[in-house]
Amino acid sequence: MLKCSLDKLQALFAKIAENAKLYLPIDNSDGTASYGEWSEGTAWSNALNTTKSPKDFFFPQTEDLMKFKTEGKNIEVIDVRRECEDFVIFGVRACDVKSFDILDRVFLTEPRDSYYAMKRAHGIIVSVACQKPAETCFCGTFGIDATEPAGDVTAWKSEDALYLRANTEKGSALLDKLADLLEEGSDEAVTAQKEKTKKILDKLPLKELTTDAFGGGKTKELFDDPAWDALSATCLGCGTCTFVCPTCQCYDIKDFNTGNGVVRYRCWDSCMYSEFTRMAHGNNRLTQKERFRQRFMHKLVYFPENNDGMFSCVGCGRCLAKCPISMNIVKVMKKIGGNKGE
Ligand code: SF4
Ligand code: SF4
Repeated sequence: MLKCSLDKLQALFAKIAENAKLYLPIDNSDGTASYGEWSEGTAWSNALNTTKSPKDFFFPQTEDLMKFKTEGKNIEVIDVRRECEDFVIFGVRACDVKSFDILDRVFLTEPRDSYYAMKRAHGIIVSVACQKPAETCFCGTFGIDATEPAGDVTAWKSEDALYLRANTEKGSALLDKLADLLEEGSDEAVTAQKEKTKKILDKLPLKELTTDAFGGGKTKELFDDPAWDALSATCLGCGTCTFVCPTCQCYDIKDFNTGNGVVRYRCWDSCMYSEFTRMAHGNNRLTQKERFRQRFMHKLVYFPENNDGMFSCVGCGRCLAKCPISMNIVKVMKKIGGNKGE
């Protein structure tokens, strides 16, 4: 276990930024936090999490895929992919680190998505253990330990130091470069901090929420549950829940005529939108109830069915905080799954 005293944190960030772009959660003026690039003096936010998840680093909200130029009957296809440089995402919480495993299932399974794969290969993740999880957190429901996040390097913050442990080759290489600022730290300090956090986790209101009623093979049982009517009745179809979600991965592909050629780009889409997956014959989900059901059946039944039991939710709580009608996956799990605390 290595340790960096907190008064050397800016020096640590400067050292990281010598070799790679460094991104970290930064406070906004409205009390929220967002990922941004570090520059001298940029303070690391104390917020539990960012409003939007760090999935943008690998799967940006909009991304050019290719360009076309036409001249008469000739069409030139221009590859816009560029080798990207190493970058470090610092301060990623356990739930968001787990979301990358879920996205990997989608984008790195053959046929691999080369746009995503390139960024994933160059991204170095420094996670940080949670100290004060919020009442909206339920990562434990999906087997995630907020005190022991994965990533290339795991960090624990105490009152006076940051403790760091490399988990991968990329992580070891990063810590090697920071060696001048690091010293040996005791495991006891980390254990004590983890114990403190576990006491908070034990008291969280969603601690009893389970996935017992969900998983692969539950389609027949859950699809026609009459509770979907009431659950979806006031859904606005705004898509906020999908845009803040670290695991939502649907996108649309569009062409834009610049007047000097065509840019083909992709942008996030939402299964909550009425035009989502519309085909030549029309749309196969005609009501908001069907669209709403699709989102939760996908996360809780279809995804685990096709991915060795892996659920497509990490319990980050963002949709609980942001839905304008206070509807969310927890309410669905309680109502449809008969979970405690209904
Ligand atoms: S569940 Fe909430 S956030 Fe999601 S689309 Fe419906 S109203 Fe919007
Ligand atoms: S469904 Fe909600 S709680 Fe689950 S990962 Fe997405 S935003 Fe987080």
